[in-house]
Amino acid sequence: MAPSVAVIGAGVNGVGAALAVQEAVPEVKVTIVTAELTPDTTGDGSAGFWGPRSIDGDPVQITSWGQRTHDFLHQLWLDGQCPGVGVLPAYDVADQLEVPYYSAVPFAYEVMSERALREAGHAGKQGHQYVTLYAEPTKMLPFLMERFLARGGRVLRAKVERLDQLAGYDVIVNCSGLGARDLVGDDKVMPVRGQVVKAAAPAIKAAKFDFPATYVIPNDDVVVLGGTAQRGDWRRQVDPADTERILAGCRRWIPSLGAALTQRVWAGLRPYRRGGVRLETERRAVAGRLVPVVHNYGHGGSGVTLFWGCALDVAELVRREVAGEARASSKL
Ligand SMILES: Cc1cc2nc3c(=O)[nH]c(=O)nc-3n(C[C@H](O)[C@H](O)[C@H](O)COP(=O)(O)OP(=O)(O)OC[C@H]3O[C@@H](n4cnc5c(N)ncnc54)[C@H](O)[C@@H]3O)c2cc1C
Repeated sequence: MAPSVAVIGAGVNGVGAALAVQEAVPEVKVTIVTAELTPDTTGDGSAGFWGPRSIDGDPVQITSWGQRTHDFLHQLWLDGQCPGVGVLPAYDVADQLEVPYYSAVPFAYEVMSERALREAGHAGKQGHQYVTLYAEPTKMLPFLMERFLARGGRVLRAKVERLDQLAGYDVIVNCSGLGARDLVGDDKVMPVRGQVVKAAAPAIKAAKFDFPATYVIPNDDVVVLGGTAQRGDWRRQVDPADTERILAGCRRWIPSLGAALTQRVWAGLRPYRRGGVRLETERRAVAGRLVPVVHNYGHGGSGVTLFWGCALDVAELVRREVAGEARASSKL
């Protein structure tokens, strides 16, 4: 019988991992088991900007996951079949800025000259400019899900309270985001709350960041204005005080945003993990049998930025399990 894999979660990491497993190990049957689907996952409210933020972990590892995701998104953009994927110029500005460890990944990364900063309205600040990608999960997730279903994937809508519910599967892949805190008892997982305002401003074609307090990211149909990064804050509801502060900050930068019509205000919880993403295999007793569980959660504010690189690593861990080559080591 074909080996069976259950992927918990249908956020960008669950769908990405499910698809990568199908592509790397075509003989397995993959089922996504999830409480929520697009458009109700964390990424669905985000702008899907490529750029690591609100994440811990090894810079070399993050850069490697990020590079492979950047390559994947760039290819999607070149192919032109996945909606909601775009290329855009971006600026980071702040009183003080270090060149980030991942600066080799986006295209044409440069420290801005004094003249460039003055012309961009940020005299006296430090700034970096580059060209990067965005992938709007509300548009990309249905596209990737269609690929997954076309390859014979199945989706079950259910909340997994205990891994014993998945006793029939040969491998479990855990992409439950913040849900991992309860599901596998990982207290390093916590929310970093984020609120954004989505407004119609079609003349804005570049992203600008002073993260997390103020940012502007154009998507296909709206600009996404931010932001907040409130660690340990579980509130999913919109806070009017945050909305006011976000709008005031963005209008200080770009006064024309004062006339932009607000389409939606949204708050979500970034699935942050102290120490970084957990991507490893653990053997867990599931209904009396030791089952390999490949964890892939804790992507913080960088889930879209890293998901495909992580998915490829998940697929390799699953391939080793199916081929009988694996030796699990868990560092939780
Ligand atoms: C305001 C804001 C802006 C952001 N902007 C960006 C950005 O520009 N770029 C970027 O890269 N990232 C951004 N992020 C972060 C990004 O959205 C997340 O890192 C990413 O969406 C996490 O994806 P995930 O699949 O790991 O988790 P989630 O999307 O949270 O998905 C978890 C899935 O697991 C399911 N699940 C959980 N527990 C269980 C269970 N027990 N049983 C069954 N199913 C379960 C859920 O239903 C869901 O389907 C932003 C986040 C926020 C809040």
